[in-house]
Amino acid sequence: MRALSALFIFCCLTGNLQAQHKNPSVNQERLEKRIMDLAQFGLQENGETERVAFSDADIASRKWVVKIMEELGLTVSIDYAGNILGLRKGKEKDAKPISFGSHTDRVPNGGNYDGCVGSMAALEVIEVLNENNIKTKHPLEVIVFSNEEGGVMGSRAMSGHLSKKAFQVVNSTGYDMGEGIMRLGGDTSRIKQVIRKKNAMAAFLELHIEQGAILEKENRDIGIVEGIVGLKWWDVVFTGFANHAGTTPMDSRQDALLAAAKFVVDVNEVTNSFEGAQVGTVGRIRAEPGAPNVIPGKVVASLEIRDLSSAIIEQVFNAIHAKAQEISTQSNVNIEFIPLDTTADPALTDPSIQKEIEGVVQN
Ligand SMILES: [Zn+2]
Repeated sequence: MRALSALFIFCCLTGNLQAQHKNPSVNQERLEKRIMDLAQFGLQENGETERVAFSDADIASRKWVVKIMEELGLTVSIDYAGNILGLRKGKEKDAKPISFGSHTDRVPNGGNYDGCVGSMAALEVIEVLNENNIKTKHPLEVIVFSNEEGGVMGSRAMSGHLSKKAFQVVNSTGYDMGEGIMRLGGDTSRIKQVIRKKNAMAAFLELHIEQGAILEKENRDIGIVEGIVGLKWWDVVFTGFANHAGTTPMDSRQDALLAAAKFVVDVNEVTNSFEGAQVGTVGRIRAEPGAPNVIPGKVVASLEIRDLSSAIIEQVFNAIHAKAQEISTQSNVNIEFIPLDTTADPALTDPSIQKEIEGVVQN
């Protein structure tokens, strides 16, 4: 169902769906078989598949993907970040490629579909276009991103956001990212050449399972992604006064953890008080000195806010900040917000693509 939609989307976008090709449909059995075949790479005795990036299973599965791409007539290459690229020529010489695909590496217990559906569906789209002799205006490019699960490595490299510092990050295979890139056939010294300029692609599409389980709850087959949310992180530092729990009366305490507890509740309430799908989370909290018989003098908590709109993130933050001031006054605890480097701007899906998908799924 989902793959079928994807196929139509590509056809619509390329504007080449001739009358006689009106209903090319994906071969569901073939697609399913490929997804299951892919799950064999890294299959353990307990029936689970383990295929962390850079593992032998990852490398073997990538070879298998390359082989299929070649059989489908794609021009296959591995870029310097280890992304697998398969190009199908378009009719128009100067048209930019329409790129689509996903990833084939997996987190432990990630299931057979995360990334695999989008990758195998991309191959299926190419195969159906081939079978129906459909030539597209734009070149089509299948991309299987490298090491998606260990820090969106391949896509970060392509967008110019993979720093050299990241090369030192070691994953569960024992290889660091730099070694991993080399293992996948990339080259860390030339990583910058992977960067694609803005607008280098006509479009990028990824078919992906929905991980928030909202579609399942609403019994829907497909959703149209509105965009990728932006996020901001802060450390929130509560400074009170550490004192003996036994001898300090309740009315003269400066309990940093008590203030933080109120803060956690308020983050939830304030975030909920806005209309929309924004989320606000306190996911980590550390109290000092951390003894049962000492009033906590210092607490560091995390704050994360996500939304599709930077303005909403700002508004939610301001409201949380105002609440924190109230807590501070009431509890005689100083509260300081330290913005962290971890931020990402929202990226919205192009409305024209959303419309295409909507048109297809309603048919
Ligand atoms: Zn994924």
